[in-house]
Amino acid sequence: MAEVDAWIGLGSNLDDPENQVKSAFEDLRGLEGCTLEAVSSLYRSPPMGPKDQPDYVNAVARLKTTLSASALLSALLGIEQRHARVRGRPWGPRTLDLDLLLYGSAIIDRKGLTVPHPGMAERNFVLYPLAELEPGLVIPGLGALEDLLGRCPDTGLYRLEV
Ligand code: ATP
Ligand code: CA
Ligand code: CA
Repeated sequence: MAEVDAWIGLGSNLDDPENQVKSAFEDLRGLEGCTLEAVSSLYRSPPMGPKDQPDYVNAVARLKTTLSASALLSALLGIEQRHARVRGRPWGPRTLDLDLLLYGSAIIDRKGLTVPHPGMAERNFVLYPLAELEPGLVIPGLGALEDLLGRCPDTGLYRLEV
């Protein structure tokens, strides 16, 4: 099967978020059928949903994969489980969130899997890390990353020293 470039968004705001994200990079590196190609810096960002929760640590990663998009999403959800993710209220605190942001040039909209990931165009904690790794990226159906960045201020986003 042909290899596809997939982009993953990582987020954590519980149980040592920086280490959650760094160890998730290693989990991605170990995924069967995937090669971890690049990881962004870590970023701190204010919570997107309810404000009574800690700030988030976010990052993105790029993989080459022979997995289908749905198999890759299942693998990501498996990693979340191993990080003891508990789903509470929407956008509530979590040890680890792994979103499948992009899967090659695919546009997918089916039950349980939407790619590009909904909302990514308005999320500075996704767009700025993507730009760090691939400023010329074009997002299927959404256009040039550069243009999305122009409409998405970096308010509240801090790149962490690594
Ligand atoms: P958001 O999706 O707005 O970032 P969230 O990450 O907190 O919110 P979750 O509870 O982690 O939401 O995910 C809910 C469901 O979204 C997952 O069970 C999964 O089936 C579905 N989903 C659909 N498309 C995707 C995708 N591209 N990446 C990850 N999950 C997805
Ligand atoms: Ca998410
Ligand atoms: Ca998610």
